Amino acid sequence: MRKHVYIDPKCLATSLIPTALEEYHKEVSGYLIGSNGTGRFKVVSAYPIQSDIKMPTWVETGNESAVRRVNKLMKTMRMRLVGGFHSHPLGPPRPSRNDIDFIRERLDEHSLQQWLEIIVSVRKKDYLTRHSTGWQLHQYENKLGMTIKTSPWTGFGVTLSGFWIPSSGRIREATLWTSRRCNF
Ligand SMILES: [Zn+2]
Repeated sequence: MRKHVYIDPKCLATSLIPTALEEYHKEVSGYLIGSNGTGRFKVVSAYPIQSDIKMPTWVETGNESAVRRVNKLMKTMRMRLVGGFHSHPLGPPRPSRNDIDFIRERLDEHSLQQWLEIIVSVRKKDYLTRHSTGWQLHQYENKLGMTIKTSPWTGFGVTLSGFWIPSSGRIREATLWTSRRCNF
């Protein structure tokens, strides 16, 4: 179980953040793909599951056979599944009891001892005064944050937190980090 988890900035910019923002008022979920290297623990890609049923405070599998097809594809192509992610549009940046039970039921299916779950908390901000568009990355003790101002009047605050979930026993928060120079 690695404490430090490096998230490739391209994975943040082209998958995790846009997936959470596209339907920012609904929960979305997906898989995390890790690198096969032996060095630092790295998340290189995130796949959003499209057949999910997405609601403001929960997300669930909408089509079991579609998800099985994705699972088989990842095995066939030797992608290293390390866990998953889901968004919490209004909820706290930590997994709920239901999240943990759902993940634990799936560990065997993926032949994993532990699962890394990233929670993407999204909050839309409406500004009363005009702001310049742009984005900023924030590195907190264990979490990553992003402020993204997509228009002079609207922005999004995004917080990513990671948790190692073993089949039983204590859940530990991972320290998420990424490159300071996010040249997407
Ligand atoms: Zn949740």
